[in-house]
Amino acid sequence: MISYSFPGKVVLVTGSSRGIGAGVLSAFAKAGATCVLHYWNDPAGENRKDAEALATQLRALSSAPQVHLFAADVRNAAEIESLMRQVKEKCGGLDVLVNNAGIIRDRTLKKMTLDEWHAVIQTNLDGVFHCCKYGTEILRDGGRIVSIASVAGLIGFHGQTNYAAAKAGVIGMTRVLAKELARRQITANAIAPGMINTAMMGEVKPEMLAEYLKMIPAGRFGTTDDIANAVLFLSSEESGYITGQVLPVTGGWV
Ligand code: NDP
Repeated sequence: MISYSFPGKVVLVTGSSRGIGAGVLSAFAKAGATCVLHYWNDPAGENRKDAEALATQLRALSSAPQVHLFAADVRNAAEIESLMRQVKEKCGGLDVLVNNAGIIRDRTLKKMTLDEWHAVIQTNLDGVFHCCKYGTEILRDGGRIVSIASVAGLIGFHGQTNYAAAKAGVIGMTRVLAKELARRQITANAIAPGMINTAMMGEVKPEMLAEYLKMIPAGRFGTTDDIANAVLFLSSEESGYITGQVLPVTGGWV
């Protein structure tokens, strides 16, 4: 892991109780950032337990980061507006917003239900819009927005009309935000991961995974550390002249 330092910086990673989000937030925690751990408080309350367990782990790191937990559904604009208000009250503002929360509901166009279409668009595209809209109200000048898009938003995959459309939308949004926010020295970039080993990958059929693996020159699936390294780079002070870009992290696939 490359060594970065974010002391005094407040970082919010959406969907950070597990998967890529947890990996990214952990990397920021090791780099001394004040961490806002965001999760979705599902009716069963299981996610809160995962979020609390991760917060305990992070607080025990030698960097002893402050970790604040907040629950919100990214699909719900009012909840995200309230989340950002609470982050402002508790942490004084925000320096880095990582839009990570996302879902897949794969099915061919012919079989895809309207519910599956809307679920993915509302979470993966509307959710990023809500976080950017209300997040930029508390983001300090010189701040960073990094959105986790997908290689699917660049090249498209069978069975992912909803997902590819949402991720391509995030990439488009990123390019606009780079222009609109440049006067505040805020950068906006996207990362396009290939196949990363998380629970989401478990939702892809094994025969599809085998096909994908053959197409990855690096000969392996990615890890959450691979993504965290890219996010920390784009969030660092040194990358202040990089904005409106999409960085594929794919092992050479795209
Ligand atoms: P996981 O399924 O492991 O994690 C998804 C995260 O999103 C969870 O923390 C979940 O929260 C959160 N989330 C889902 N719905 C909502 C919602 N309505 N409101 C708030 N949070 C929500 O997925 P990954 O870690 O693999 O994926 C993270 C991101 O990376 C996604 O945007 C995904 O599209 C993208 N990506 C992943 C790839 C991969 O191969 N894994 C490849 C390319 C892109 P909770 O746990 O509380 O439900």
